[in-house]
Amino acid sequence: DSFHDVDMGEIIMGNITLSRYSRPTPVQKHAIPIIKSKRDLMACAQTGSGKTAAFLLPVLSQIYTDGPGEALQQYPLSLVLAPTRELALQIYDEARKFAYRSRVRPCVVYGGADIGQQIRDLERGCHLLVATPGRLVDMMERGKIGLDYCSYLVLDEADRMLDMGFEPQIRRIVEQDTMPPKGHRQTMMFSATFPKEIQILARDFLDEYIFLAV
Ligand code: AMP
Repeated sequence: DSFHDVDMGEIIMGNITLSRYSRPTPVQKHAIPIIKSKRDLMACAQTGSGKTAAFLLPVLSQIYTDGPGEALQQYPLSLVLAPTRELALQIYDEARKFAYRSRVRPCVVYGGADIGQQIRDLERGCHLLVATPGRLVDMMERGKIGLDYCSYLVLDEADRMLDMGFEPQIRRIVEQDTMPPKGHRQTMMFSATFPKEIQILARDFLDEYIFLAV
């Protein structure tokens, strides 16, 4: 039971040590190898289980080992959707910690804050975008974000996003023409519960996925 069971590249491994994470939590232990093996994933995991690092570490390490290149304005390589500003900021903070010195650049956008400033931040380049669905749709409509190169898609707390009424925005984002279709991107869904509506979303968004419950 060690983070060293999966090679995530020297810099990210170093950042795990800097974060003082000594051992993977159960969701990390199981999800990291699945994501590294490029399979789609439906994971049932609660808040506090360590699910954020379970998707951030393998996604950041994949971007890093592929060679992040120049961070492109407007075209993130990975997208994490989250229900609230608080959660989006938490994910972003964790992403910054793990991406430290890797040249992988995370950004965050959420509603209720100055969109101009968020657009300027994106214009400095973005590899990994953390977003709430409403604000992301707004950015898309303004032509400020393109998902053409989005190879990794994460839906965090999917059940909460549906409870909050975000299904139309989520479908708008995931099912738009420019987003790589399933099978051409890697999709990971995290949810505390697995009701019918989440099963339908998993069927629509995931490609031959692995189901994980911890
Ligand atoms: P999460 O469920 O992702 O919101 O994580 C809950 C809390 O556990 C956060 O404060 C994380 O920083 C912390 N955490 C996650 N994974 C580990 C780990 N392997 N070792 C120690 N703390 C962790």
